[in-house]
Amino acid sequence: MALLLIGAHFSIAGGLHKALLTAQRYRCTAVQIFTKNATTWKERIITQEESDLFRKVRGQTGVKAVASHASYLINLASPEERKHDMSKQAFACELKRSAMLDIPYVVLHPGSHMGTGEETGLARIAEAINQVFDHVSPSGTRLLLETTAGQGSNMGYTFEQLDFLIKTVRDKDRVGVCLDTCHVFAAGYDIRMPKTYKKTMEAFDKVIGLSNLYLIHVNDSRNELGSRKDRHEHIGKGFIGPDAFAEIMNDTRLEDIPKILETPKGDGKTDYDAINLKALRDFISPGSHKR
Ligand SMILES: [Zn+2]
Repeated sequence: MALLLIGAHFSIAGGLHKALLTAQRYRCTAVQIFTKNATTWKERIITQEESDLFRKVRGQTGVKAVASHASYLINLASPEERKHDMSKQAFACELKRSAMLDIPYVVLHPGSHMGTGEETGLARIAEAINQVFDHVSPSGTRLLLETTAGQGSNMGYTFEQLDFLIKTVRDKDRVGVCLDTCHVFAAGYDIRMPKTYKKTMEAFDKVIGLSNLYLIHVNDSRNELGSRKDRHEHIGKGFIGPDAFAEIMNDTRLEDIPKILETPKGDGKTDYDAINLKALRDFISPGSHKR
């Protein structure tokens, strides 16, 4: 029986290791964190003490899978030279920080072309990734390009675009994909019914390959199929609905892939993380996984 790898994005307020402790409180075996404030360019230096503590607590909590989500400011497709350089710099720092913490996955939104067109934008992203990989020595940390909703000029909303990036990145051992259920749905891939779920996963496998899938963000969507809007909703309460999540939680092909919630946290009065984690666990057919 496979160990169920399930968790949520948790806060690092009070120290990076705090996210692990929160995960443990929720009986999570997976967690996603920001290794710095994700909404500023300011970098964060990880001390040896912090990294030692993170590793120690990780061992104690039994959290098996850890992912870091890169800053939202990073745009590897930016046509502005300065912004492009800052983005490459920040991405390199994220890879180094995650390596120091033994975090195997860094999730990144591929980027926005800002009017220069998708072809130009995608080529610029791939080139930037190759440059950063040339400058940051390989570690156990893999870049995961996230499927996006295709809001504005965001790229990565078709499986073909992600496949292009994977193919164009020279070091294949350092790249993969994170599938976000809300984003693919908003981008126009239906997963609401067993039949449409199957079709979308088949398309993913055919174009990108399931062997390139390392992480799943499990989120319902506040907007309709093909809306191209990135707004997450509680599991089963949005336009995707419960059936898709039942499919995902029982899909044996995805058994070993960590599943992370990025659902709204609310105002703190209701423990939505507990509710959404329970919703996911309740979908699992008895006997198919450890709980
Ligand atoms: Zn996501």
